[in-house]
Amino acid sequence: MQFGSDDLAKYTFLPQAGDFIRSQGISISDLASNDYQKVVKRAEQRVLEAMKDAKISQDISDREIEIMSFPVALMLVKSTNLEHVMSRFALAEAIRVEQFLKRERNGKIIEELFKTSLGLELEHNYQNPSLPDFKIPLEEYLRRASEFHKTEWKLVNRLVGEGKVFLIQDDLIRLIREEIRIMIMARLKEIKVSKLPENLQEVVKEIIRAAPPPPQSPYTIIHIAPENYPPCVRKALDMLDKGENVPHYGRFLMATYLLSVGKSVDDIVALFPKAPDFKQNVTRYQVEHLAGLKGGRTRYRVPSCNTLQTHQFCFMDPIKCYQITSPLQYPSRKSPELAKASADKNSKSTRAKSSSTQTKERSKRDWTKTRRR
Ligand code: SF4
Repeated sequence: MQFGSDDLAKYTFLPQAGDFIRSQGISISDLASNDYQKVVKRAEQRVLEAMKDAKISQDISDREIEIMSFPVALMLVKSTNLEHVMSRFALAEAIRVEQFLKRERNGKIIEELFKTSLGLELEHNYQNPSLPDFKIPLEEYLRRASEFHKTEWKLVNRLVGEGKVFLIQDDLIRLIREEIRIMIMARLKEIKVSKLPENLQEVVKEIIRAAPPPPQSPYTIIHIAPENYPPCVRKALDMLDKGENVPHYGRFLMATYLLSVGKSVDDIVALFPKAPDFKQNVTRYQVEHLAGLKGGRTRYRVPSCNTLQTHQFCFMDPIKCYQITSPLQYPSRKSPELAKASADKNSKSTRAKSSSTQTKERSKRDWTKTRRR
């Protein structure tokens, strides 16, 4: 299917938009010339709007400028080298796309767009106007809807027929909103930007000045060496390393625990490629969700030992796990005083005062640093 310039101006992430730009034969140095002033201006506007208002205006009256300004905006954002600027921009672009998709009246375009960009086979329900407009394979629905907690997303509340789930347009778009954001973020991570012309470097400085400060975590981060992770976490890591399927609670434990000990979303996603069902976008979404960066913005806590025992993911060390109630207590069990001192010092490295026992020596290694942000 051929997309028109109107479509490419709305859905600037489409590969066809990239083809259009390549056909113009523009190089980065060309962006310094007056011929491309409007493109640079719109790219700057896109990014500054994202920084200030977390959304991007939707005027597509000048289609060529709109199409060309997207990759320039990506370059500007990437050149800031700031993760939170990239995240904010990706979210604002995803919201812009979402607004266009919700108003899109051409079902064929939606079908093609989902297929090209998200690999999602979508069918428009032309036969029966009394049913919702779209249907998607059951497994595709379940994979995405499992991230939503409202009862309306439960399968029992959906119309299902011949292995497909029927959806109205708004629900369909809602279902893939995060994927668009992840796709734009992935594009940002992939691109390599060579030295920008001076006029663009000035814009990058302006973006950095306008960007909000990076979000601060309200949680205590406890840095622990991997060899001192509790047995349940080590088991999950070990299974992943061997390419075994880690059950749901094992994954949940591993991600929440590693976030609590200061690992980044990227660090955690990087552990999963050997998992039999690994899909980078899905894994990233799930970890970001647990970190409170997605969905209801709730940061999930590390499950208790009780919960892990109930779900048969406890591999208790009879000595070190004795009487602990959370995997986070594992390294400190033999030195609660040190753990408390560490927390009280609030952001300062703490060293155990006594070296008289082996236990305290171990605690020194484990609790090298506690930060409260
Ligand atoms: S007792 Fe707790 S920390 Fe120890 S293995 Fe079981 S769940 Fe993990």
